[in-house]
Amino acid sequence: EPGRGPFPAGSGRTEAIYQVFENVAKKYDVMNDSMTLGIHRVWKDILMHKMNPCPGTLLLDVAGGTGDIAFRFINYVRSVRQRQLQRKLKHHQNLSWQEIFDSYQKDQFNSLGDSQVVVCDINREMLKVGKQKAQHLGYSEGLSWVLGNAEELPFDDDKFDVYTIAFGIRNVTRIDLALQEAYRVLKPGGRFLCLEFSRVSNPLLSRLYDLYSFQVIPVLGEVIAGDWRSYQYLVESIRQFPPQEELKAMIEDAGFFKVDYENLNFGIVAIHSGFKL
Ligand code: SAM
Repeated sequence: EPGRGPFPAGSGRTEAIYQVFENVAKKYDVMNDSMTLGIHRVWKDILMHKMNPCPGTLLLDVAGGTGDIAFRFINYVRSVRQRQLQRKLKHHQNLSWQEIFDSYQKDQFNSLGDSQVVVCDINREMLKVGKQKAQHLGYSEGLSWVLGNAEELPFDDDKFDVYTIAFGIRNVTRIDLALQEAYRVLKPGGRFLCLEFSRVSNPLLSRLYDLYSFQVIPVLGEVIAGDWRSYQYLVESIRQFPPQEELKAMIEDAGFFKVDYENLNFGIVAIHSGFKL
């Protein structure tokens, strides 16, 4: 059912959600850390390991916000390339320093090779914070930022190797459209990966989790960002988002094959994966 959540579809939901992220953009990273006790970093790392991108991967990170997935992708690709280079050098132990230096230069030790990542987000403010972060952290090569709606992506068909959406799809008003768009822009053989809050099945844990979400998170929102309402929205949107099996069926309906999911931390979040064949 499209547009479920605290802001019902048709009543300016997309605009209301825009406002939420505009309000939180500057505090987004700090809030993310405090709400999840830093665990969102581990979840994002797991997503990256699951993706395990090969050289030359073109990644589209939708609802990419302040760039967390994109930066991880760049680090991952760089570290794979560095390991490859180290292996290559180990096999040539008799090389002179000059030859080793030339080899490093040729491989552009710190470069992404021909891998690239495009961050797409509907919110100017989130992208602005992301771009500032990229500049500060020294990421520029192979990285671009595009303003766009997941429901109507500004990209050609069959373009990307991997599509990711992390903590983004539950904010999208018409999830079915976003999934169709993901399918359209992926190359045949391309992979869809979605990291999102999901459903905890253990009843005791679920109660504890509810207590934390409804009692603690909005208070944290108020204290850290001065914004109770936005964080209440985040909690409610998590509760109203389709659980694991339902989302899996929606991904299959969009045309994806081999759709599966992995629960992390008892289902607090799940990673759904599918392929365009
Ligand atoms: N992916 C980032 C991360 O994991 O840190 C950001 C996630 S943040 C919770 C959700 C993002 O979804 C916000 O940046 C928001 O602007 C974006 N968003 C909401 N609706 C969207 C839509 N229809 N199309 C694209 N992005 C959207």
